[in-house]
Amino acid sequence: MPRRINGRVNVATQANRKMVYFFGGGRADGSADMKNLLGGKGANLAEMANLGIPVPAGFTITTEVCTHYYESGRTYPKALEGEVAKALAKVERIMSANFGDPANPLLVSVRSGARRSMPGMMETVLNVGLCSKTIPGLVARTKNPRFVYDAYRRLIMMYSDVVMEKAVGIEPAEGKGIRQQLDRMLHEMKKSRGRATDADLTEGDLKELVEKFKARVREVLGKEFPDDPVKQLWGGIGAVFASWNGRRAVSYRRIEGIPDEWGTAVSVQAMVFGNMGDTSATGVAFTRNPATGENKFYGEWLVNAQGEDVVAGIRTPNPLNEDTKNEQNKHLPSLQTAMPKVYRELDGIRRSLEKHYHDMQDIEFTIQEGRLWMLQCRNGKRTGTAALNMAMDMLAERLITRDEAVMRLAPAQLDELLHPIVDPAAEKGADLVAKGLPAGPGGASGQIVFTAADAVAWTKAGKKVVLVREETNPEDVEGMRASVGILTARGGMTSHAALVARGWGKCCIVGAAGLVVDVHSKTIRAGGRTFKEGDVLTLNGTRGHVYGGALAMMDATENPRFVEFMALADRIRAMKVRTNADTPEDAAKAREFGAEGIGLFRTEHMFYGKGSEQPLFLLRKMIVSSSEAERRAALDELYPFVKKDIKATLAVMDGLPVTIRLLDPPLHEFVPSGAGEREKLASALGISAAELAKRADDLHESNPMMGHRGVRLGVTFPEISEMQFRAIFESALELTREGKKVFPEIMVPVVGLVSELDNQLAIAKRIHGEVCAKYGVKKIEHMYGTMIEIPRAALTADRIARTAEFFSYGTNDLTQMTFGFSRDDIGGFVPDYLDKKLLPAEPFQILDREGVGQLVEMGIRLGRATRPKLKVGICGEHGGEPSSVEFCHLVGMDYVSCSPFRVPIARLAAAQAQLTNPRGGKPGPVVRGTGSAKTKAKPKAKAMPKAKTKAKAKPRPTTRSRR
Ligand code: PEP
Ligand code: MG
Repeated sequence: MPRRINGRVNVATQANRKMVYFFGGGRADGSADMKNLLGGKGANLAEMANLGIPVPAGFTITTEVCTHYYESGRTYPKALEGEVAKALAKVERIMSANFGDPANPLLVSVRSGARRSMPGMMETVLNVGLCSKTIPGLVARTKNPRFVYDAYRRLIMMYSDVVMEKAVGIEPAEGKGIRQQLDRMLHEMKKSRGRATDADLTEGDLKELVEKFKARVREVLGKEFPDDPVKQLWGGIGAVFASWNGRRAVSYRRIEGIPDEWGTAVSVQAMVFGNMGDTSATGVAFTRNPATGENKFYGEWLVNAQGEDVVAGIRTPNPLNEDTKNEQNKHLPSLQTAMPKVYRELDGIRRSLEKHYHDMQDIEFTIQEGRLWMLQCRNGKRTGTAALNMAMDMLAERLITRDEAVMRLAPAQLDELLHPIVDPAAEKGADLVAKGLPAGPGGASGQIVFTAADAVAWTKAGKKVVLVREETNPEDVEGMRASVGILTARGGMTSHAALVARGWGKCCIVGAAGLVVDVHSKTIRAGGRTFKEGDVLTLNGTRGHVYGGALAMMDATENPRFVEFMALADRIRAMKVRTNADTPEDAAKAREFGAEGIGLFRTEHMFYGKGSEQPLFLLRKMIVSSSEAERRAALDELYPFVKKDIKATLAVMDGLPVTIRLLDPPLHEFVPSGAGEREKLASALGISAAELAKRADDLHESNPMMGHRGVRLGVTFPEISEMQFRAIFESALELTREGKKVFPEIMVPVVGLVSELDNQLAIAKRIHGEVCAKYGVKKIEHMYGTMIEIPRAALTADRIARTAEFFSYGTNDLTQMTFGFSRDDIGGFVPDYLDKKLLPAEPFQILDREGVGQLVEMGIRLGRATRPKLKVGICGEHGGEPSSVEFCHLVGMDYVSCSPFRVPIARLAAAQAQLTNPRGGKPGPVVRGTGSAKTKAKPKAKAMPKAKTKAKAKPRPTTRSRR
């Protein structure tokens, strides 16, 4: 049996496990569905080869070898060398050239490929195989010495940087990296010889340059640049594996929640050259526009260049076709006009790829002396807007089904659609500073900073920043993440960083050619003006416009396509989506977002914020009362305010259920601390200031979150509950008489004992009777239920369900009580837990399936054993977080409830959960917590899936939004 590590097979322990997969010549060992083993790149190269698309031959070393490499002190399984040699021999046969052959040398690229794309985060080495032995042969065959020396200087630059410096862990000071040093030498050579671009360097220049490069490498790194093709190949392979743990790859994985154990595959592929003269070229393209979704072939290319030139943003790339020219590149020739035959072939491949993959593809191609080669295809990253438009277009084109369309938007991308755009009215006549390429949509205003480190630091300090760089650079990934927007002076739409920003839906403008960015003096010059660090700019990432100052923003929700898309999702989902709303205004907003009821109405909201002065004063009066009579008198005064509030919200939610929670917070929170307030209160109660101070002191608690709060208030002071029950019943009745349809659900918080619920129910019944008698009716429609937010409630849910007609999981408190982490104090330690990987994610944001999840699942199972039709929902913050919503679906909840702005996200997450785990009209599946040996699974039980983690999720100071 092979040994399993993190669920994966350790290849070293199984001699005959295939480690190298060949592709080329119209066939391949692998296919597109082998991404876990071959990485996205390797799997898609195999698929393209199988489809008969022209792909240079090559082979992929599996991700399992990467795992082995890390587990065995950076060594390879013994058999790997032999497998690589065999695959290389096949490549040589197909490409009619031999690796290391002096007469007819084959060159290869060595590239990374994880199962999920991590654009630009790992390393690549091109032109491997060039050395003193093979150079003359290649010169003789190509009759193009300039090209050969250009390829050689690129190899030295990449190899010394990636293999000889980064892979061995050398961290040079800023600007001192070998790559930068060689770059400067290249620049100086151009300057001293009067050459405008890299392409103008002559054979002589390049010959001289490579010798200088080799001397510099020796001097800086203390080693010779290897002159042996086999050594170069294994150096490249090792460096790609090592780059899986490079700094930017690790940062990116944290942000994207990609597990460390996945590893990368390595694809070794015959080189084809886009830099063999004017009939050669290289480019990247998207089968549709990745920023807008428009169904137009969109891309960039450069004549006489290698792929790195396009993505590095060194030269402004040419447009792919006439239709997609923009401000920056309209003067440059398109591929469509420059090489019409190749363009037509490429366009044909574009169509076959979309038809085959049923999705927008991001492709890389090279044209070598007029012949087209495809180097890569993968599902393209896209903005939320583009994802929405493409999903709806492809549905209309019958390229995808309705279900597939609904799966095409990540719920988090909706967030971007709901995010602000620059108000077009404010934009008219605004101070336009520069124009660039619209790389990431929406609007953003922020203070400008010039380094990724500053972006992170300023954001931590609570500022909103726009990160300004000369060119896009994947090293900046953390700073890009932290910023509200990204602005660069150089680079194209397909540069790596633009891809990353777009993937995150971050507002981003690249290639704003009118800007002169000076990172050293931290200034931007634009049209005779200077902006310095801290100055505010506004970006319109949808148009590519940069403005001085902060412009007004507006919502982008009225998009009819958005409405249509959400309607598709709504038809699919099994769970309802409600909202947590505390005011009639919030409730109305949430209805617009599609909320199907209120899952949590926190009655205490009325004592905070606008218009709260009078009710707060009366509440305080009630709190510091010293006798029941005094308290009742204060409650009588408070009553009309409470009733008005409840009634207004029930009215807004006409036709939909509203869960009204009884007063929850510890009372001492409301006691005034200011002298003036205290004086006013004392005089209203006719007591001395000293007496008031004494009463306030008596209310003090050491641990209020576990003190006198929730149902405990109603147990000690039944009159408080009475007042609330009365307000609910009277409001419901009066609204019914006005012709409204109201469905109040009375919810008791912080319950741990069924006896607490019974105690309150007796009061509710009595008040119900009194109100019925007063209005001359027999019954007022309502439900009576509880929150499950204390572990004991979940553990005794079978008993609690004897009284409760519904459960609503308060996972904020349930998480707090299960972990023993104070929800208001996690900022002090949870970041360390995340950094040190003690926790996979912040548990107040992403529901902890392993622990808290078990309580949730158990509570539902026990509750429904007593009351099969028990209605169950969630109203903790997790109710609007996609992975937690999926969990709620899996455990069979009837609804989730979340803040108004997260309602669309929850709607989509619920639909996607139903598509991936259909409930089929039956009660939800019973799931089992990982590691829960004791939980009995029913026959159809599924393993509780692990949450998708966002390891770097920042803890928010509190989830008690009202405090
Ligand atoms: C909860 O605890 O999850 C909850 C919704 O209640 P609150 O946040 O008001 O304590
Ligand atoms: Mg709570």
